[in-house]
Amino acid sequence: MSDLPDRISLREVGPRDGLQNEAPVPTDAKVELIDALSHTGVGRIEAVSFVHPKAIPQMADADEVWKRIDRNDHVRYSALVPNLRGAQRALDAGFSEIEVVVSASDTHNRKNVNRSTAESLDDIAELIDQVHDAGGSVQVIVSTAWGCPYEGDVPVDRVLATASRAVADGADGISFGDTTGMATPGRVRRLVGDFRFGHPDVPLNLHFHNTRGTGLANVLTALELGVADFDASVGGLGGCPYAPGATGNVATEELVHMVEDMGVATGVDLDAMIDAASTAERLVGRTLPSQVLRAGPRSRRTPV
Ligand code: ZN
Repeated sequence: MSDLPDRISLREVGPRDGLQNEAPVPTDAKVELIDALSHTGVGRIEAVSFVHPKAIPQMADADEVWKRIDRNDHVRYSALVPNLRGAQRALDAGFSEIEVVVSASDTHNRKNVNRSTAESLDDIAELIDQVHDAGGSVQVIVSTAWGCPYEGDVPVDRVLATASRAVADGADGISFGDTTGMATPGRVRRLVGDFRFGHPDVPLNLHFHNTRGTGLANVLTALELGVADFDASVGGLGGCPYAPGATGNVATEELVHMVEDMGVATGVDLDAMIDAASTAERLVGRTLPSQVLRAGPRSRRTPV
């Protein structure tokens, strides 16, 4: 285990990816969740997305949420956008860290934003310039990186070509998103290995969904490859729009619980994150899939 990173950086995506795939919750609930997460020690929070309210009504109050949260100076907050227009709204709201998403699968991209992957990449090139001009940074998230609900397997070469185009256009970092939980450790090894070979110095984040139970196995595989930047969602909030009842992202407290015991620091206070998961569960009004939330950490003792 000595070759694992000493420390990793986590981005909490529950307020965005999680809540986007739950039944809509009130603005107050979003603010409460983000504020709870801001006190767990997590370094980054994807707070909102600026998308068309008709496409994703759950995020229609993004401006309001961002205004009302109690900002913690130790946390970097970011916004997800689907296009240049969304990035403009995010900049206007005061965000300087922007994530823009493009799907490696043409069909999925068309369903999401009504344009081809190539057209989105053209838009993203302009977006990167504008965000840089405003002093911000852009991470390009390549979604359906390990498979598409419409097309099935997405060729690794197409995923790499999508990411490489974004790098060439000035992206500050790349994230590979396993949108519907189709990644397995062997596929993680292949994509991350090939990307690293071509772009050894480009910051890489990975975003796994636990839709089919391979989330933590994928994280561990990536850790062994030296990846030190992951998304996770408190309580395993969220779901999958293509698979009713499916679980959401890898649960943050499960990821923290596993890697900290292996000597990998996250900066997150596990008990505080478990409390935040309880808060998330109360706010969405359903039992969340996190097993560490159910069982507690391995240090928990049963009274004799
Ligand atoms: Zn996701």
